[in-house]
Amino acid sequence: MATLEERYSHLEKTIHGYNISADLAQIRAAYEYARDCHGPQMRKDGTPFITHPLNVAQIVAEMRLDTESIVAALLHDCIEDTEATYDDIAKRFGTTVADIVDGVTKLTRVHYNTMEEEQMENLRKMLFAMSRDIRVILIKIADRLHNMRTMEYQTPEKQRKKSLETMEIYAPIAHRLGVQKVRWELEDLSLKYLDPVSYEQITSNLAAHAAEYDAFMDHVQKEVEERLTEMGITAIVYGRVKHPYSIYRKMYTQNKAIDEVYDLFAFRVLVDTLADCYNVLGVIHDLYKPILGRFKDYIGTPKPNMYQSLHTTVIGDDGIPFEVQIRTHEMHAVAEYGVAAHWKYKQHISQSGGEGTYEWIRRLLENQEDADAEEFIHSLKVDMFADEVFVFTPRGAVINLPAGSTPIDFAYSIHSAIGNTMVGAKVNGKMVGFDYTLQNGDIVEINTSKSAHGPSRDWVKLARSSEARSKIRQWFKKERREENIANGRAMFESELRHVGVAIASVTAPAVLPNFLKRTSFGTLDDMYAAIGYGGYTAQKAVHRARDELAAQNRMTAEKAAVEEAKPKAAPVKQEKGIIVEGLDNCLVKFSKCCTPVPGDPIVGFITRGYGVSVHRQDCPNALPSRQKETAGRWLKVTWGSDTHETYATELEITAKDRDNLLMDISTVFSSTKTSIKGLNVKTTVDGFALFSVTAMVTDKTQLDTIMTKLHQISGVIKVARPAG
Ligand code: MN
Repeated sequence: MATLEERYSHLEKTIHGYNISADLAQIRAAYEYARDCHGPQMRKDGTPFITHPLNVAQIVAEMRLDTESIVAALLHDCIEDTEATYDDIAKRFGTTVADIVDGVTKLTRVHYNTMEEEQMENLRKMLFAMSRDIRVILIKIADRLHNMRTMEYQTPEKQRKKSLETMEIYAPIAHRLGVQKVRWELEDLSLKYLDPVSYEQITSNLAAHAAEYDAFMDHVQKEVEERLTEMGITAIVYGRVKHPYSIYRKMYTQNKAIDEVYDLFAFRVLVDTLADCYNVLGVIHDLYKPILGRFKDYIGTPKPNMYQSLHTTVIGDDGIPFEVQIRTHEMHAVAEYGVAAHWKYKQHISQSGGEGTYEWIRRLLENQEDADAEEFIHSLKVDMFADEVFVFTPRGAVINLPAGSTPIDFAYSIHSAIGNTMVGAKVNGKMVGFDYTLQNGDIVEINTSKSAHGPSRDWVKLARSSEARSKIRQWFKKERREENIANGRAMFESELRHVGVAIASVTAPAVLPNFLKRTSFGTLDDMYAAIGYGGYTAQKAVHRARDELAAQNRMTAEKAAVEEAKPKAAPVKQEKGIIVEGLDNCLVKFSKCCTPVPGDPIVGFITRGYGVSVHRQDCPNALPSRQKETAGRWLKVTWGSDTHETYATELEITAKDRDNLLMDISTVFSSTKTSIKGLNVKTTVDGFALFSVTAMVTDKTQLDTIMTKLHQISGVIKVARPAG
């Protein structure tokens, strides 16, 4: 066994390997301080306690974290297990380090019960929310990893409990932060205690076949390397057997014996450029037969933890399948060291996608363009769950509420009956007011009484969750209808007065039914009641009333306009080759939705202010049902004899993409003497090209000829005139 000094110099060497500007004097000071604090304490394995923080710091260094992280890792058990205080540490090593150590200590004090999966997710979120600084979580993971490595000295009961926690909480967190190596080791160590028989079976099977597996991997590696050299691609190629827990999961989910689990091997090809990733993929698919449906492009679509890689599974010469992961060195660093790796490559970060829950990491990274390494990790604060708070019930269940929630929210989230009969609340054993703001990790207890009067109207203002608010309103709705109607009526009338509308104009027989329809209430009293208990606002009701009054005014005006336009019959005038029946000298335009050309059956629509717009009769905007809705505004129009102009019309062409496709399409237009005014091409991932062409044609005959010719082009699947 290595001496403490040997371990310590190994740590220094690791740090020096990735961070030449690390403050080794500070790290040495932290090591000596922690060693003196822990003094004669021993671990269960009989080594001095300081070996634990030293090993945790080693793991943290292998994750390539900054000086403050290493220092905090060395000190992480000082507050919890020794006489040292926050102030001591802050004085010697700064408040940042003290805050991190304090954060790790708080996480250590959270007690877990076995719980449902949904609860687990809340617990994981709570750990993030409590950490605030991402380094707290990373050190906590390193702490857990070292404890798992030395778990054999614990009682079987403790082994099981810690392994379960590791599997359900820490391994998923490591996965999300992208520290895959740590995640695998956590999973394997947990499996060892949770299912020792399977673990033993898998590891001994792997050991028994080690020589055979190595030979296979060597062979594939050489074959791939040779081909890549021929192609002039510089790459690092290596293979590994998948980790035991990954094999275990396959055995379990696919119900297979270990000999039947087929993809045991994973190969990696690391290259310099993104383009080479795809070149290598081509080479692999040429050398071996790819299994359909197993190709995944995480470069185009990165995983939420920013993992990027191409994955494919292929079948080798002996019928043995194996997975190949292809990525650049940069992507590899992210996969190995997780979020911490990003500072090295931050200039490229804008390329990596990633959305959803971990968007915050990306956002932070994007704001870090000019910061150096130390500053980067420093500002990497966990603000992901800043809008949520996680608290415990007295029985240890985790309840997730919006940040700023009060005991009222908590009570209603348990059950509305609890909320409605609540008379008091305790947090961590002490009485608090109903306006107390809940903090992460609080244990909340609600006192109820059968003789409670029910919620007060002020509670709606104290509650943060929409669930609590709507339950409180629900109560008022049921218990107090008469009172609600009176209140609601007063609120509605006062709001109306405010905007200068008389109540009589709203309750007029011609207006009231339509107004209620707009509010979706059956009767005026129902609406008043809803306003009274807060389920509907007086402002909204007044908006609806004004909408209805305005609509009625508009309708009257429109009728007058149509009447005025109609009677002047007889003379006919052509505008743009269109004859509008009964209207002289009116403005004509062609609708953009269906771009009619001479020969199309057409119909006209009287617009407000722009004359008549001409649609094809088969245009969705001119369907009989639409015409009925706007009856009185449709007119018969026909093409005149004088259509010597050309007309702009749209065509959509869908085709299997290929070389020279665009050339063939444009040949059709030039051979029919048609000029193209606009052209747009979109290609889809599955190899199709979608063209939209704006062509100038004289009539439908010319358009039909063009469409027939386009259809005859090889690869063209569909030619259509867009409708609507
Ligand atoms: Mn520890």
